[in-house]
Amino acid sequence: MSTIADNIGLVNDRIRTAAQAVQRDETSVHLLAVSKTKPAQAVREAHAAGLRDFGENYLQEALGKQAELTDLPLSWHFIGPIQSNKTRAIAENFAWVHSVDRLKIAQRLSEQRPADLAPLNICIQVNVSGEASKSGCTPADLPALAEAINRLPRLKLRGLMAIPEPTDDRAEQDAAFAKVRDLQESLNLKLDTLSMGMSHDLESAIAQGATWVRIGTALFGARDYGQP
Ligand SMILES: *Cc1c(COP(=O)(O)O)cnc(C)c1O
Repeated sequence: MSTIADNIGLVNDRIRTAAQAVQRDETSVHLLAVSKTKPAQAVREAHAAGLRDFGENYLQEALGKQAELTDLPLSWHFIGPIQSNKTRAIAENFAWVHSVDRLKIAQRLSEQRPADLAPLNICIQVNVSGEASKSGCTPADLPALAEAINRLPRLKLRGLMAIPEPTDDRAEQDAAFAKVRDLQESLNLKLDTLSMGMSHDLESAIAQGATWVRIGTALFGARDYGQP
């Protein structure tokens, strides 16, 4: 059976190969380990093998793991859908939020970010798959939303996040990620982050400019949603 450390090595190899294929510096691609549904012990193992950044989708689960891992210098990223009543705990307990898709949520995060913490890093989730996706702002709404979020105190708008509909057609996959990159470039803002690419499509995302790939299955194995 492969260990988490083995898997990290394999994923890092994939990242390096994908970056080299398009003449990108591999250090410009960061690995976010998506630990949702996995126990704190799996995060501990990934940390021991060199990872520092962990992504979680479910607030209560994330807070529980954080409480078990306070001895480790980890950076936590919130990557799931956000309800208004969850913003305070997110603002207080995460370094990044990748899944902001409306102004009301950003305003609450801005108001609730504790003054003694660094600004909360924000990515706007954009929907480039039309009706196939429920999450993310529309490309049409993106410019105004980005301008507004960029003006909010205690937040630092870093870039865009997207989860294009999966497809086995590499050209289609590339086109979806390229659309995210083009949308980011069309904004007249200083942004340095494209959060895109998961276990099955990180090569395509890196070819189109991803700076964070969010990887769960390829690091920790398949998720079992039947187990708490
Ligand atoms: C679960 C999840 C991932 C990781 O997906 P894998 O296919 O397991 O790599 C990445 N991003 C988001 C937003 C997720 O919810």
